[in-house]
Amino acid sequence: MKRIFEDIAYTGAPVQNCFWNVTAPSREFQTLGADQSCDVAIVGAGFTGISAAYHLAKNGVSVILLDAETPLFGATGRNGGFCCLGGSKASDAGLDRLFGKNERLLFRQAEKEAVGLVRGLLETNAIDADTHSSGETQLAHRPKDSAEMAETKATILQNYGVEATYHPKEELMQLGLGGPFFGALTTPLGFALNPRKYATGLLEAAIENGVKVYAHSPVIKIERNPRGYDLRTPVSTLRAEKIIIATNGYSSEDLPDWMRSRFMPVQSSIILTRPLKEDELNAQGWTSDQMAYDTRKLLHYFRLLPDRRFLFGMRGGLFATQGERKMIEREIRANFNAMFPAWSGVEIEHEWYGLLCLNRSKTPYVGAIPDMPGAFAGFGYHGNGVGMGSYAGALLADLARGLVPERPYPQAMRTVPKRFPLGPYRRHLMRPLYQWMAWQDR
Ligand SMILES: Cc1cc2nc3c(=O)[nH]c(=O)nc-3n(C[C@H](O)[C@H](O)[C@H](O)COP(=O)(O)OP(=O)(O)OC[C@H]3O[C@@H](n4cnc5c(N)ncnc54)[C@H](O)[C@@H]3O)c2cc1C
Repeated sequence: MKRIFEDIAYTGAPVQNCFWNVTAPSREFQTLGADQSCDVAIVGAGFTGISAAYHLAKNGVSVILLDAETPLFGATGRNGGFCCLGGSKASDAGLDRLFGKNERLLFRQAEKEAVGLVRGLLETNAIDADTHSSGETQLAHRPKDSAEMAETKATILQNYGVEATYHPKEELMQLGLGGPFFGALTTPLGFALNPRKYATGLLEAAIENGVKVYAHSPVIKIERNPRGYDLRTPVSTLRAEKIIIATNGYSSEDLPDWMRSRFMPVQSSIILTRPLKEDELNAQGWTSDQMAYDTRKLLHYFRLLPDRRFLFGMRGGLFATQGERKMIEREIRANFNAMFPAWSGVEIEHEWYGLLCLNRSKTPYVGAIPDMPGAFAGFGYHGNGVGMGSYAGALLADLARGLVPERPYPQAMRTVPKRFPLGPYRRHLMRPLYQWMAWQDR
């Protein structure tokens, strides 16, 4: 497995103090000890792989799901739990230019359906994932961003067919959204959840439908055989007619070779306070259950959990070195203190980070791997994989069954992303981009 981040990024160290682990401990899974075979083998047990496994098994397909570590080890078990619109960094104008307006609207429809899919999976499988928040609220960090929200409101109506609500600055305290904000826009789509409870519940449902799951079984080689593929792990071989690669930010350059330079892993970081008392919440003026984020390009995302802990996230370091880690630890605290000064003395009890994935196309890829018949991949959700990863999994299940998906499957998700330049050194491309974004955010 050739991976481009420092080794520590692929160990348990970044999630040693992840809060979700405490709320939904993982059960034990065996390693793939003896050779086995199945219809569809899935590499990577996160939202994408679990959703694909669930949707395949529901339709009678025999599935084996492998993870190099444990299920939910990747971003799935450690994200912010915003089940929201997104999955792409492409602008409307960019999508229109490349695919036309109808395809842009189809992509927006897919984003919306991704949120609905998660809602449906929670309900159908009676998964209690501590959900809260009525849609998502974007907070203007400058007056000019607030002024632009009228235009954004119109765009939201066109793209998603829903009326967003604008809240002027004067109303924010009353709404429990107290902070250095100049206005807000609430889009009534999406909700927040405990990502580990959701993914664990879906994994259990997949297992009930017959999916076999193996942990500590890294696929180290993919070979063709006359009827499909042999996935080699250090101790055994899994033979399958079809395979799905669902490794996202934890992907390797050589599994398969086609993945080389086709994805950009980047880090995101989260801190979590102890439960806040009512007088502390009132002192800051933040009492809302809304999941929220600011208008910065290098955005901050935050929400008050049902147990009144406050979750605050932002980008992570470009490298997983100790020096860069220390810098991000300082920066995330400084940003949190600046935005929520009343809580600057409050204990941070949990802190963790992980890898998400960007594509050069700025849109997710969900589809066949060219020149590998019967092989499929889904990756590149641009930090919005709770909904979009689950949705990609459902699409991949259809594709692996040889079906044309009935759900929206826009051109933007079917177009193979080009490789990033600079090969294994491509993370260096992000430094000037982050600097440009920070400059834009002033
Ligand atoms: C800190 C953070 C906060 C985030 N917040 C949000 C949020 O609030 N909302 C949102 O929508 N998205 C968020 N995201 C993004 C979201 O978590 C991801 O997009 C999503 O989890 C991707 O799911 P996945 O199943 O595709 O990949 P992952 O969950 O990353 O899983 C990939 C799996 O593949 C396994 N693997 C890799 N290589 C191999 C191999 N060779 N053999 C076997 N297994 C292998 C890994 O061990 C891993 O478990 C966040 C991400 C991070 C890191």
